[in-house]
Amino acid sequence: MRTEYPCKILVIEDDAGICRFLRATLTAAHYDVIVTDTGKKALEIISSHCPDCILLDLGLPDLDGNDIIQSIRGWTKTPIIVISARSTEEDKARALDLGADDYLTKPFGSIELMARIRTALRHTRTTMENDSIALSGVYTVRGLTVDYKKHRVFMNGTDTGLTPNEYRIVALLGQHAGQVLTYKQIMKEIWGPYASSDNKILRVHMANIRRKIEPNSDEPRYIFTEVGVGYRMADEESNE
Ligand code: CA
Repeated sequence: MRTEYPCKILVIEDDAGICRFLRATLTAAHYDVIVTDTGKKALEIISSHCPDCILLDLGLPDLDGNDIIQSIRGWTKTPIIVISARSTEEDKARALDLGADDYLTKPFGSIELMARIRTALRHTRTTMENDSIALSGVYTVRGLTVDYKKHRVFMNGTDTGLTPNEYRIVALLGQHAGQVLTYKQIMKEIWGPYASSDNKILRVHMANIRRKIEPNSDEPRYIFTEVGVGYRMADEESNE
């Protein structure tokens, strides 16, 4: 997919082989690519070149990627996609809680990477300029409609009967469709900053939501679980 202007992608990665792969893949997809191998240089480039999206390796020679996320989030909302060999649930949740938009575990393929980049870029565009939910008042995917004016969720036109908190969870995920929201982020949003760190109440709500909106709760089509990390709402492009 070509965009109106070439989006600028900053790659922060110290592995030369992965850098070559990313440069070739992103250039072929008509992105402008800037590559750097240290965190310090990356922070300079971000302030001088204002990239549209950042691909960030966590294990860098000078700084830890998580410190870079924290530092960047102090002053810009530029989407950050972590690309890392660290694959535990704690690693993912930590980076997302610090403000990363997405997390790809190495090794990953170019098709998946491109889909994640498009989601990240679309999300910035929709939140900053042309919020399609704000315009239409609804989020729709595969027959599921979140109606932000009526505060209801419909399946093929039929009210799914969600409780107010169930609706708020689905509404929040719909606003971030395609992106993982961590348990912590959702809990904070629904139950406030002093929400318990125990996710049990959220899991119970999700089980009820799925019973109401998913044809088969064991194979969700609308809200996916990122095990140990959080939930992600399907968007038009997701092919799960
Ligand atoms: Ca590395």
